[in-house]
Amino acid sequence: MASLRTWLCDFLNLISPRLCPVCNKHMDSNEEKVCEHCLNQLPYTYITDFQDNPVFRLFERKFRLGRTHSYIRYQHDLNSHLLVTQLKYGHRPDLARFMGSRVAREILPYGFFTDIDGIVAVPLHWIRQWQRGYNQSAQIALGISDVTGIPVIKDAVKRTRNNESQTHKTSVKRAKNVENLFQSVSGIPCRHILLVDDVLTTGATLTSCAQAIAQRNPRITISILTLAKA
Ligand SMILES: [Zn+2]
Repeated sequence: MASLRTWLCDFLNLISPRLCPVCNKHMDSNEEKVCEHCLNQLPYTYITDFQDNPVFRLFERKFRLGRTHSYIRYQHDLNSHLLVTQLKYGHRPDLARFMGSRVAREILPYGFFTDIDGIVAVPLHWIRQWQRGYNQSAQIALGISDVTGIPVIKDAVKRTRNNESQTHKTSVKRAKNVENLFQSVSGIPCRHILLVDDVLTTGATLTSCAQAIAQRNPRITISILTLAKA
């Protein structure tokens, strides 16, 4: 049965080759969503101390912070930029979920998920989500859940404005832009959640989201995971 499956995959690959979203080259049938070469070349942060790293220092003392991790460095001239662009704008929710599973498998042995009993994705505004068809951060969260078995908590927090991209704003404008950007719409029945986003820049958006959650759930501990860090 396995050999039939392999044969079918090889055949399908021959008539409709699957391309790596990063280098655009044909992938082998044993390669899943990104070719092995590109996966090996990604600029990983190798963060394994989850309470002493640059991400942790961004959020320290802003809410009850658990652990933090960013998987890869995000730079415009690197493959990580191509990867994030594809999973965000390329109609590739499967790629986001795949990367979520990868990061989870990587940090699970280091105890990152200990005590975490729920996963929350930073929401898009409903108009943005409707346009894109999916929320890439929610897909990353599902990938993490696939590996850890920790449930994804949906609809606990919503984005109140369809704010423009943060990328080209000064830090003062960014802070202003995210004021009351999120609203916690229901209590979260967890003690320690993991808040997931795709790309971390200044941390203003994630802080705003975490504080909205913390306001409604004052005893909750919040850990932060992003796929990439600028
Ligand atoms: Zn590739």
